[in-house]
Amino acid sequence: MGSGNAIRGSRVGAGPMGEAERGEAAPRVRVSFWCANMHETRPSFASDAAVPELWDCPRCGLPAGQDEEAPPAPPKNEPYKTHLAYVKERRSDKDGKAILEEALERLRSNKSPW
Ligand SMILES: [Zn+2]
Repeated sequence: MGSGNAIRGSRVGAGPMGEAERGEAAPRVRVSFWCANMHETRPSFASDAAVPELWDCPRCGLPAGQDEEAPPAPPKNEPYKTHLAYVKERRSDKDGKAILEEALERLRSNKSPW
């Protein structure tokens, strides 16, 4: 009994040097950006940092702006692609028809009111 008092107060990491590890204490704000393909990006910025007007969309690389209704126009050298264009690209017309027919078939067989 009584031999533990001297050790108290010298625990690892309790010193004043611990402040160096508190780099994440600065408040951050999230800002939404939308590109011409309506991808939403929400990078976070330090609350005292200037938020850029444009942000590169990480998904398609187009410039994204903070106005969802009016995203910045894509640069001239990039072909403008709507979401529909992407879908069409992925499936050929043939595949699309086959999928449609399959779906219709399933519809007919699942619920046959007659
Ligand atoms: Zn995008």
